[in-house]
Amino acid sequence: DIRVRFAPSPTGHLHIGGARSALFNYLLAKHEGGTFVLRIEDTDQARNVETATEKLMDSLKWLGLNWDESVDTEAGEFGPYRSMERVGLYKEYIQQLIDEKKAYYCYMTEEELEAEREAQKARGEMPKYSGRDRDLSAEDQKAYEEKGIQPVVRFRVREGETIQFNDSVRGDVSFESDGIGDFVIARKDGVPMYNFAVVIDDHLMRISHVIRGEEHLSNTPRQIMLFHAFGWDVPTFAHASLILNADRQKMSKRDESIIQFVEQYKDLGYMPEAIVNFLALLGWSPVGEEEIFTLDQLSEQFTLDRVSKAPAVFDTDKLAWMNNQYIKQADLDTVVDLALPHLIGSGRVSEEMNEERHLWTRRLIGLYQEQLNYGAEIVELTEQFFKKDVDYTEEAKQVLNEEQVPEVLTQFAKELNEIDEYSVADIKKAIKATQKATGQKGKKLFMPIRVAVSGQTHGPELGDTIELLGKAIVVSRLEAAAK
Ligand code: GLU
Repeated sequence: DIRVRFAPSPTGHLHIGGARSALFNYLLAKHEGGTFVLRIEDTDQARNVETATEKLMDSLKWLGLNWDESVDTEAGEFGPYRSMERVGLYKEYIQQLIDEKKAYYCYMTEEELEAEREAQKARGEMPKYSGRDRDLSAEDQKAYEEKGIQPVVRFRVREGETIQFNDSVRGDVSFESDGIGDFVIARKDGVPMYNFAVVIDDHLMRISHVIRGEEHLSNTPRQIMLFHAFGWDVPTFAHASLILNADRQKMSKRDESIIQFVEQYKDLGYMPEAIVNFLALLGWSPVGEEEIFTLDQLSEQFTLDRVSKAPAVFDTDKLAWMNNQYIKQADLDTVVDLALPHLIGSGRVSEEMNEERHLWTRRLIGLYQEQLNYGAEIVELTEQFFKKDVDYTEEAKQVLNEEQVPEVLTQFAKELNEIDEYSVADIKKAIKATQKATGQKGKKLFMPIRVAVSGQTHGPELGDTIELLGKAIVVSRLEAAAK
């Protein structure tokens, strides 16, 4: 049975790296007809953020990465799914290791540990816990307790061992145990550390594959030692590559060159389908040349052997391109949902607009559907619709210098005044009439009109643009440009 899990710590919003891990787990589960578990790892209580679990779940749902088991499902035989609700259970396993002398109490204070590290560094050694309290007698322990020192629990790492595993992405990986000091598995208050809780949970929840980011690779030997200490089977590990920014630097949470949280993309008017598609290609590659996939298509095709260990570069332009591919295919209601909040947010249209204004706004958004990379872009793209005069781009100014321009624009303004209805069809008739009257056609006719009304040499459908701008503005812009 394939059972995978995404195990975020509730410390903040869903990060794109986390979202990719969640996606890969989800895809493997779907591909194999397995189970996708969402587990909340909250034992590092100082870092927990109150609303984070809810936000993480919202973002996962928005992406369509629905889980089979989690804190909001029937606990069944594997729950609870929040680590802090499992502390009693962890304590039993910690006691077991202590009883078997595979773990022990360590009474060293922060200051003593710090002094130890400094001394090691001064000798040119890699800092590592010395093992001072490995073999304390019961009396020694009692003496510390009487001084009021509370111990942590450390795992006894065996010396001279090589910890090996076959990573589904990275192939054979090995670590020497000598580089790893006896590590803390339980804090002073008895709450276990991540490296311990994760092993108990992955075992008890029968997790078959652990798919996560490369930043966890150095945790893996510690976790494998714990699996061995309990005599449990080790799951299959798959560490997906790092995600780099455009400068090929490891992305840090403070990196401003990349928007890093899924919720921010949602707020900017990206489509979840596009984010999912884009994240899938961050490290996984499909068989053919095709790049656009739905979640179901990805589930069908996804296998771990096509996940690359080479770092994946986060290409913001490609994400914008991909989102545009999805926006172009979407129905207008969807695009309006993405873009309208931004027009409202910018103050350009009112939340309480009347029916007529609403229809106008929908048409305006529809006019830019082809071009729109993400919802928030609508504000800049439609700027010219919300003011009286227009600013000309450099190219536009050159067009206006052509000699036929005043005649074309004056004539077109006159024709517009004579049409029956201010509609796209009649506006087109007015253009035709202008062509007849001036003898200008093609670029010499259309370009001056486009530039005069929009300030730009490129743009959406001219007839629609002219209609949506409204006659008064169009005529005044034509007159201004004709001078
Ligand atoms: N709670 C860990 C984190 O958020 C999970 C790591 C893992 O997948 O084992 O980074």
